[in-house]
Amino acid sequence: MATRSEQLAAADQSYVWHPFTQMKDYNRVDPLIIERGEGVMLYDIHGRAYYDGFSSVWLNVHGHRVPELNQAITDQLALVAHSTLLGMANVPAIELAEKLIEIAPKGLKKVFYSDSGATGVEIALKMAFQYWHNKGMRGKTSFVTMNQAYHGDTIGAVSVGAIPLYHEVFRPMLFPSHVIPYPDAYRQGGPEAAAEAALSGLRLLLETRAESIAALIVEPIVQGASGIMVMPHGCLSEMAALCRKHDVLFIADEVATGFGRTGAMFACDLEEVTPDLMVVGKGLTGGYLPLAATLATDEVYGAFYADYEERKTFFHGHSYTGNPLGCAVALRSLQLMEERNLVEGVKVKANLVEQRLGPLADRRHVGDIRQKGLMVGIELVRDKVSCEPYDWKERIGVRVCLRARELGMLTRPLGNVVVFIPPLSSTEAELASMVDILSEAIISVTEQGWGA
Ligand SMILES: *Cc1c(COP(=O)(O)O)cnc(C)c1O
Repeated sequence: MATRSEQLAAADQSYVWHPFTQMKDYNRVDPLIIERGEGVMLYDIHGRAYYDGFSSVWLNVHGHRVPELNQAITDQLALVAHSTLLGMANVPAIELAEKLIEIAPKGLKKVFYSDSGATGVEIALKMAFQYWHNKGMRGKTSFVTMNQAYHGDTIGAVSVGAIPLYHEVFRPMLFPSHVIPYPDAYRQGGPEAAAEAALSGLRLLLETRAESIAALIVEPIVQGASGIMVMPHGCLSEMAALCRKHDVLFIADEVATGFGRTGAMFACDLEEVTPDLMVVGKGLTGGYLPLAATLATDEVYGAFYADYEERKTFFHGHSYTGNPLGCAVALRSLQLMEERNLVEGVKVKANLVEQRLGPLADRRHVGDIRQKGLMVGIELVRDKVSCEPYDWKERIGVRVCLRARELGMLTRPLGNVVVFIPPLSSTEAELASMVDILSEAIISVTEQGWGA
């Protein structure tokens, strides 16, 4: 007789196709099947406990099974689970929009809902495109993105994506975008040289091509999926200023960085930048439900506001746009962030993490430790002096994360970069334990050959 866990594992293998996963590898090992969560811990069907060291892929804010968030959903469930925003409204969608505008960089005035970061990005791209169309400037149709950018996996989002491993096969399906360098302080000779490379790339492009460009899209301050790349200070505000000067819209993709992750409510706040369009997702609902939003200025909104016959309407929407359950839990999550002073707390916790990670910097194969707030990426290298990367076939990041799992913490690597993005609610003691697991995993794989 197969046990329940064996049955689940067999059914998983038979029926589920996992995202970003080579199923041939996945099917070789006993799957990790999560059954429940509590605070910053997740428990599998065998009852084994793991720290959620990556916030369930950068989503979770207050931990799992938070009484206040559960209550917000059940309260809303007692009223209505879903009703559309197409031509009508619902209570939580209105209340959340008001709250988002209160906390967003000032100048952002309107909220357009969707259900994932990728759809939020699609909406920003289409709004930017139609904004110029509606204003009669029909030549402004192309987009600028940054090298190694990740904006989600739908076709428009992939068209402004620039990670060859994920995006190259789809190239023939995509619209072409301009790619400017992303400042890489580690490999481009320090923050100033790296920032100048990116800024001069953008300056040159805008000076010669601005009349054909609709918008620049940027992951502000922290480029996540490329390996937690932190922008040198001043770069973001300078890019925003260049866009304004050349009449190009500035789109901030805050899907990963939004809601306190970097130590500010939004990464744009770190340089007092107000984008024309801002996309939020991931942490919006505290990591509970799929909800995203695209925020716009009055200037952008105004270009669509006209008599129906002028054909300026934004014809875009999704079945679950503004879902009341998602909006209710998002609103409660934002209130909890305030009640618990969570964003201020991130700064203190980030210092603790930085100090505890300090000794790792001296290890033989730790090339670069990048951190902003509670977003951390540790780049492992074969040779520390020459910054020579590990061969991708060695799967060094995967091995470190498997070792961390064995030691009781979950996370996912980005190539040779080990990612640590704990829930913002993690206590100092929990953070210390997680960092210790991370350090031990890195040392045992890179210095003691674990899993080779
Ligand atoms: C995760 C992410 C997205 C995509 O969000 P999904 O909800 O997975 O579609 C877009 N942009 C950034 C910066 C992200 O980190």
